[in-house]
Amino acid sequence: MRATVDLPLFLPLLESGACIVTPGKRLAREITESWVRHCESGSPVIATPRVATVDSWLEQAWSRAVEAGRLPPSRLLTPQQDLAVWQQLINNDLEERIGFSLTHPRAAAQRAQAAWNKLMMHDGAGLRDLWSAFQYDDDCHVFSEWARQYSARLSELGVVSRYGAYQQLLSLPVTERPAVGLFTVPDLSPLTRKVLEHLASVTLIEPDRGDYADLPVQSFVTRDDELFAAAQWARASSAGSGQRVGIVLLDMPNDRNRLEYFLRQEFDCLDARYNDLPVNFATGMPLANTPLFRDALAVLEWDVHPLSRPRWVSLTRSPYLAFKADSEMIPALIQAQFMSGSHEVSLENALHIAARLNPASRVTGILRSIRSSQAHKGVKNLDDWTEVIRERLALWGWPGRPGLDSIEYQQFQRLDASLDALASLGGVLPHQSYESALVLWRDCLAATVFQPKTPHDSIQVLGPLEAVGGRFDALRICGAQRGVLPARPRVEPFLPVAIQKSLGMADIDESALTEEAHTLLQVWFASSLEVIASFHSAEQGLPRHASALLSGKVSEANTSWFPPARWAGPLQVEPAPEDASLPLETPETTGGISLIRDQAACPFRAFARHQLNLPSLQPTVIGISASERGTFLHEALFRLWRQIESSEALTSLSPEAEKNLIEEAVSGAMQQTESACEARGYSLRERVGSACWQLEQQLCVDLLAQWLRHERERSVSFRVVEMEQNQTLQLEGLSLTLRPDRIDEFEDGRRAVIDYKIRAPSRTRWLGKRPQEPQLPLYSLLDPKIQGIAFAELPASDPVQFIALGESLGLAKGDNKSLEQQTRSIAAAWPDLVAQWEASLQQLAREFMAGEATVSPQPGACDYCDLASVCRINELSANADPAALEDPA
Ligand code: SF4
Repeated sequence: MRATVDLPLFLPLLESGACIVTPGKRLAREITESWVRHCESGSPVIATPRVATVDSWLEQAWSRAVEAGRLPPSRLLTPQQDLAVWQQLINNDLEERIGFSLTHPRAAAQRAQAAWNKLMMHDGAGLRDLWSAFQYDDDCHVFSEWARQYSARLSELGVVSRYGAYQQLLSLPVTERPAVGLFTVPDLSPLTRKVLEHLASVTLIEPDRGDYADLPVQSFVTRDDELFAAAQWARASSAGSGQRVGIVLLDMPNDRNRLEYFLRQEFDCLDARYNDLPVNFATGMPLANTPLFRDALAVLEWDVHPLSRPRWVSLTRSPYLAFKADSEMIPALIQAQFMSGSHEVSLENALHIAARLNPASRVTGILRSIRSSQAHKGVKNLDDWTEVIRERLALWGWPGRPGLDSIEYQQFQRLDASLDALASLGGVLPHQSYESALVLWRDCLAATVFQPKTPHDSIQVLGPLEAVGGRFDALRICGAQRGVLPARPRVEPFLPVAIQKSLGMADIDESALTEEAHTLLQVWFASSLEVIASFHSAEQGLPRHASALLSGKVSEANTSWFPPARWAGPLQVEPAPEDASLPLETPETTGGISLIRDQAACPFRAFARHQLNLPSLQPTVIGISASERGTFLHEALFRLWRQIESSEALTSLSPEAEKNLIEEAVSGAMQQTESACEARGYSLRERVGSACWQLEQQLCVDLLAQWLRHERERSVSFRVVEMEQNQTLQLEGLSLTLRPDRIDEFEDGRRAVIDYKIRAPSRTRWLGKRPQEPQLPLYSLLDPKIQGIAFAELPASDPVQFIALGESLGLAKGDNKSLEQQTRSIAAAWPDLVAQWEASLQQLAREFMAGEATVSPQPGACDYCDLASVCRINELSANADPAALEDPA
């Protein structure tokens, strides 16, 4: 196997016991590993090599000087503490400034921290009259204010930044300089270099450089094609034993995840073998994004604010939390929780519902303990909050799984370090609330990059600088196009351009960036037996070109990742055997109107809903939903007609009395609905807000006033004889419970059933062999006196109306037509129509009892049905072509 670094380059210094310092951690680690492997063959005892990054070497030198009393006692800020100081002072500053706000103060803190480090590490403090240049630009001016506060804050805390420590080291008198080897690519910042040369006798270690003029270049159409080809190349190149293969991603932030997907696909590690991918990514995953810590953070944050529905549902399925101990209760908990229509789930609501469903369950116990605990109240030292976090996680049974897999276990081992990092922020931040402590812990986890241990011969996916110093059998450079290699000059927004230029900052200097890219190509080329570069020629519809530094032959590759090869394989479809019907065993089955309606709309839907009892989840609702408005109106009309009772009483009602009646009925109905919702564990009024609640109340009052005006126009006098009374209808062994909204009786003794609707279905849906709206036809079977049926339609935006069927009911204008005309010759007289309905409804009941469950929806039945994932209607439609089902053999 090829050595991971060019060891002969470092051997003289390693053998002499001198220290080697490198710009990055990765190279330091690889030099150490290569040295150990080199020594293993020759000697049973291996001397520990002295290899460190430049920063850690200087940090150790500073610590030793402080311990020896050569420098004043002080603490060196960690990068996270440093960022916390910036963030706090920026937050404080924003609170004081009027009319100035930032959308992302944390991003501003990171930007300010980077600008400060850049300025100081380029020795900006040495410029005469430095800060006067910051007065001419608003952003720079604000930054200069923050920088002043930052310096003052560090003095207050008695701590030093890395820049401060380096300045102190420069002030030390040095009598003896140890020998140190410095790897020269990439360049150090001027201040770092100055301190290193002040403290040590530096020997430069120059990597080999090669002439990359003939470097072959491949051109792809899209970014995905290029990365897909890189994954295929990596698999082919690593096939030989002991091959060391590397992929350099010049645009790591955009390419990393996509390349990982293609590599997983290539090595068949997308599902079951997820942890077996033989690839080492230089940029791992932030710990906060790993499922283990993602769920831990979410469940703790639930304590301080409600979670969105999808996030909460994902928690209930988490293998790391105690929800899994109550897996039988969880579906009911989700269904009840969704009933509120709210887009988020609070801990209080969940406790209320869980206690109703199963007061003795583990989850109920945990929620109760959390609600009753006072541990998360008030402000505390961050050290104390780490204990609260530990306790809360233990309460939730986190990390739960008895046997965490290898990667989860490696992640879990970072818990203590992440909490230590949180506690260490207490050294620079005042006491915090629980909520702020969780935000800070999330930041600590986000700053900790998790890199699973991978075998030595894994394929290496590297950033441009991480690839420097390594040795490869095959190296591929992806994204080698203009604007990326070299990078475009970039101005640091918090620093005046004149200052950036005068300090020689490379990021702003095109020729320096070109020189840097040239050096990288030389070093990569020299370090590998085979090197290939690639780029993509189109990006978001715009053409892209190969880097001007690449003069080798460009070949156009025709690799295309789309469609994936597996899509083009033989269709994996086989005809399912016909399912036998499952007739109901119980002699008598109960149900409501929805059972017959579902059977008429789609037999499978009736089977799923009324035999399998599959629930339907309420979608999120903004404002009042149509069904909630329907509930208000039903209840208000019930209250209203309980008082009015007849057309005669309605006519004699004074406008004032009518107004009072309506207002009382509406407010009573809304109050009753609210109480019912509260009993189910949520507040409807709270969900919609009081302004919306009042508007709804006014709308209902207006609608009812309109409705009573319409009722006054009825040409036949009537008396309300029944409202909302349960009645039972026996239908072919089905015992149906029906509850007509209202039954009116006319002077001639005939009756009509009235059902209130926000939007009434058209009359054609009541007729035919499978009436899609069987509600009113079913009511007509209840009593031979019923000679008419009607929907009372109360839409919010159109005029109210009756949609009726029956002769001379005095409800709507069409009533005076004959029944034959109204039904378009389906029935000449009411008894004929009822007989037809009875026959078709009995047929539907028989089908249901016989277990008829074919997926055969009526037109439009699927539009608002959420069972498509169960019945697979979409797949059935897609495969409707019988040829697709034929055996290819
Ligand atoms: S989605 Fe359509 S086919 Fe499927 S159960 Fe619902 S109505 Fe029937």
